[in-house]
Amino acid sequence: MGCGTSKVLPEPPTDVQLDLVKKVEPYIGHQNDVYKHFIKEDAVKAGSPSPPRHTYPYSSGHPPNYAEQPEPRKNKVAKYRAKFDPRVTAKYDIKALIGRGSFSRVVRVEHKATKQPFAIKMIETKYREGREVCESELCVLRRVRHTNIIQLIEVFETQERVYMVMELATGGELFDRIIAKGSFTERDATRVLQMVLDGVKYLHTLGITHRDLKPENLLYYHPGTDSKIMITDFGLASARKKGDDCLMKTTCGTPEYIAPEILVRKPYTNSVDMWALGVISYILLSGTMPFEDDNRTRLYRQILKGKYSYSGEPWPSVSNLAKDFIDRLLTVDPGDRMTALQALKHPWVVSMAASSSMKNLHRSISQNLLKRASSRCQSTKSAQSTRSSRSTKSTKSRRVRERELRELNLRYQQQCNG
Ligand code: ADP
Ligand code: MG
Repeated sequence: MGCGTSKVLPEPPTDVQLDLVKKVEPYIGHQNDVYKHFIKEDAVKAGSPSPPRHTYPYSSGHPPNYAEQPEPRKNKVAKYRAKFDPRVTAKYDIKALIGRGSFSRVVRVEHKATKQPFAIKMIETKYREGREVCESELCVLRRVRHTNIIQLIEVFETQERVYMVMELATGGELFDRIIAKGSFTERDATRVLQMVLDGVKYLHTLGITHRDLKPENLLYYHPGTDSKIMITDFGLASARKKGDDCLMKTTCGTPEYIAPEILVRKPYTNSVDMWALGVISYILLSGTMPFEDDNRTRLYRQILKGKYSYSGEPWPSVSNLAKDFIDRLLTVDPGDRMTALQALKHPWVVSMAASSSMKNLHRSISQNLLKRASSRCQSTKSAQSTRSSRSTKSTKSRRVRERELRELNLRYQQQCNG
């Protein structure tokens, strides 16, 4: 859906232009050693603690009143409503578009009878990529029940689309919330990580590897300060079937979060999720990425070397225990990397949950996040202005990104002043 996905050949990682590869296949030996690669179109979004992609600023804590939405918004909702099967609209009122992914649109709905809000993820299954992502997601969501994992409620299927009714998370994506929050300490970081680790430990116990853990897929359940975090988006997840060994071989993930063993095409295990958690922890504490380069080859080289640094703000204010936690996750050898259980027992997580450094890292983190969003926005802008055939879609998404960035900057300024 709106996602010009295209296959790329299984080139060595040093020269692949791999953005987000969507395919789930457990490693079943050399006789069936087939790679399938699909590129996600919205590469700028991929892997970035980007400006919010919601159509309303969740982090303000006030979901919009649909009745008061401006005309273009209403038209947009009407457009999406038209894509819904009558069986769905007989039961649910479509309220607003709240997220979009490469194969999907996510809308906020209200159950007509109970007035309870839910999210419906609508996936186009016309194309094989969409079908495969959908199958993986359903296969996992049907098996899981955990407080830190989004719950599937019911599923409607038509020839061209699948509609997954899910719990609605109204608290926004992880980083929108951090920017909006006004303060962020190591203690806050450990609380977030503890919840994510609980969910990941549960998944790994079931033989499920998420394979696309990143801030955009971690949602707050509600806008309140005591909200739990929920893991979403199982489109790339791999669930081990009976009799399988636990090795996977499909190259997949979002570039900045991909573990080195995936890049070298070694059979890999669920420890790739732990690497991604290392990347997330690094971003959580600094607002910057451990591995970042606009050039994919250089990015992958950095990852393969496990080369990152703790220079610049706010790293001098971050505890050595926190850095040790990150180091034990961003370990190139997956055998030496912490498991979810070990990470939950790491002294930083354990001690921070009780007593912690209350140093407010918020200013540097937000500034770094905004700086990054701004430079990405600028580079997209100049890249687009040199392109002769600009599509309406990309122009629109640039405008949306710029508006989001302005909103973010405004919110940040308000927080700094108030
Ligand atoms: P994709 O696989 O295409 O990335 P996601 O499942 O990540 O799709 O959904 C895209 C976005 O929609 C998410 O980043 C999030 O902002 C929003 N979203 C997804 N599921 C929910 C939900 N249950 N509640 C609230 N927002 C959601
Ligand atoms: Mg996603």
